[in-house]
Amino acid sequence: MSSLCDISVQYIKGVGPVRKKLFSQLGIETVEDLLYFFPRRYEDRRHLVSISQLKIGEWNTVTGKVLATGGRHSWYTKKRVYEIVVADEKGRLTCVWFNQPYLEHYFKIGLNVVLHGKGEVYKNRLQMVAPEYEIIDEPQDKDHLSMGRIVPIYSLTKGMTQRYLRKIIKNCLDRYCNQLADLLPVPLRNKYRLYNIRRSINSLHFPQAFEEQEEAIRRISFEEFFFFQISVILRRMSIVTRDGIAHRIDEELMEQFIHAFPFTLTTAQKKVIREIGVDMAKRAPMLRLLQGDVGSGKTLVALFGCVVAYHNGYQSALMAPTEVLAQQHFENIKELLKGFEELRIKGLKCDSNPQFLKSFNPNSVLLTSSLSKKERENVLSDIRQGNAHLIIGTHALLSEQVTFKNLSFVVIDEQHKFGVRQRALLSDKGTQKGMHPDILIMTATPIPRTLCMTLYGDLDTSLLNEMPKGRGKTTTKLYTLEETETVYGQVRQLVQAGQQAYVVYPIIEESETLDLKAAKAMFKHFETEEFKDFRLGLVHGQMKRSDVERLMTKFKNKEIDILVATTILEVGVDVPNANVMVVEHAERFGLSQLHQLRGRIGRGESDAVCFLIADPMTEDAKARLKAILSTNDGFKIAESDLLIRGPGQYFGRHQHGLNELRVANPVKQIDLLELARKEAIELVNKDPRLEQGFNTTIRQVIQQRYPQYLEMVEAG
Ligand code: ADP
Ligand code: MG
Repeated sequence: MSSLCDISVQYIKGVGPVRKKLFSQLGIETVEDLLYFFPRRYEDRRHLVSISQLKIGEWNTVTGKVLATGGRHSWYTKKRVYEIVVADEKGRLTCVWFNQPYLEHYFKIGLNVVLHGKGEVYKNRLQMVAPEYEIIDEPQDKDHLSMGRIVPIYSLTKGMTQRYLRKIIKNCLDRYCNQLADLLPVPLRNKYRLYNIRRSINSLHFPQAFEEQEEAIRRISFEEFFFFQISVILRRMSIVTRDGIAHRIDEELMEQFIHAFPFTLTTAQKKVIREIGVDMAKRAPMLRLLQGDVGSGKTLVALFGCVVAYHNGYQSALMAPTEVLAQQHFENIKELLKGFEELRIKGLKCDSNPQFLKSFNPNSVLLTSSLSKKERENVLSDIRQGNAHLIIGTHALLSEQVTFKNLSFVVIDEQHKFGVRQRALLSDKGTQKGMHPDILIMTATPIPRTLCMTLYGDLDTSLLNEMPKGRGKTTTKLYTLEETETVYGQVRQLVQAGQQAYVVYPIIEESETLDLKAAKAMFKHFETEEFKDFRLGLVHGQMKRSDVERLMTKFKNKEIDILVATTILEVGVDVPNANVMVVEHAERFGLSQLHQLRGRIGRGESDAVCFLIADPMTEDAKARLKAILSTNDGFKIAESDLLIRGPGQYFGRHQHGLNELRVANPVKQIDLLELARKEAIELVNKDPRLEQGFNTTIRQVIQQRYPQYLEMVEAG
């Protein structure tokens, strides 16, 4: 019997080689793909609401007969408007679509239709704008898949109808569902009263009742969590049993470090420095996640690890996601290290490294892909021979040509931009055979507390939950499009008073299809009219790196008053005197994006103000703006963001194994996730190599779904 993931969809009755292409459009290639292609929602067509009972302001599903149809041009939006009037015994409903000419050939008078949309009253008529629709009386619904039941609604592609897809999925279930193998051990299924896999898949497509569909989700989510957690736990085990470097750290060093800066460290910084110290002193390699909001002072904490490594005669490396950030870290660290010159004079008492007394002079180098060949060779040779102590760079650090002499501490900034695999690669750069460096991962995209343990079960975590003292307060204000001039007026006043401002746009160039202001055009407008008496600059992602950097430097040196930009600003930029930000079309930005952008201001001592100009149309956009206005706390924002977007979107695909979770939602199903985690721990404790009985099957599944995890277990 061949496995369902080897059978092409084309062999399902009703598909064939031509229509197979439609399925490809939806990412469906195999029978298994199709069985796991779940509805995006359901419609309860067991008892439909009549038009007269339609609830205003809510989503309704109604059915009726088409009474009239008609198209026209709207004189003031210049859009093509198409309307149909639908009636049942007691009521009438108008449905309106804009710019969808193909619909005009679709609805015919007398057809029965199902409509799903938000009910509203417009000019005294009941109306739905752009409802979802389905014609229900052609052809005959012989299988009763589309009426008189809870009906699945799928995502479609052009040329495919709901009815057709339902029919094919039904054929597929009838023919192949009994071949689905159940991957959850029977005792677990019994213990938690979980459906078997066949019933689950059937119920997800064609539930008899909503409770059945919920049970099916619970079962499939449990399975996904279970495998995910096993892989996380296996990885964790492989790490803690590896050999690392036991650094020597005396109290004196820690004290001196803490007092080496012109400012006082926050309590959180001191606490985390201790946590890192304890870890680095251990033989087992550290694997620690450092979470801290924008501006909480993560780099300084990371620097502590570098100093410890240097102090012990080892190298350290810091990997940043972009060249700009690498550059910035490099400069930031050089600046921070200045405080140590004084220390050198005082002399650090430590017997583990007498050399240190004479010279505390770590050599920092920057390795990015923009170095010339010659420079690069020099840097590489310094790294190899141990003349470079603190190596800062981008993923260029992972290149094969980079050989460290003796790497003992690694910092990875913004982990979510790198994968598990890169983390492993850098870890393997420790040259002494079998010695694994200590790793610190820094992120400014906080992982909500509730999730951290389960997603990052393989990491210890530290938290910088306190901002350095003496920072100004940032106020955020929301304005409508009509109030734009008011905002510009306030910006003008603030800049005249000596402030610098950012003005941010969602796009670089104007486009025909999007009615949005764009950075380039607005820069022109400001330059020639609005702000022509100020010094302006423009930066965006299509410019050369070197040009962006030149402008940023000018801005930093106060040679530019107003910087027009795109989200290129999102990371890293640190200009303490810039305390005004305008974000136009703020509804277009993601929540984390807005938070990161806003983090660019309020970095100095003065108070800052962030003007959001927005015209939110969707519920999500409204929710995002509400969240950004209500708090400056990155963790609260992260929680909201996660809820609004869902985990897959939030963390990005291909990260953390989260894209293997097709149904399960770690935010909404945290209880289930914890149960699955508990069972996963139990299983791995009993049989760490997954060699016994059914566990071999589990092992195979993990190998398939989380190959990178197992690779590391085997290597370690
Ligand atoms: P993050 O990386 O967490 O966004 P940074 O490490 O870039 O934050 O720190 C932002 C700025 O604050 C840097 O210029 C840094 O030198 C400074 N800084 C760090 N810790 C403190 C502190 N305790 N007090 C004052 N300034 C600090
Ligand atoms: Mg260690």
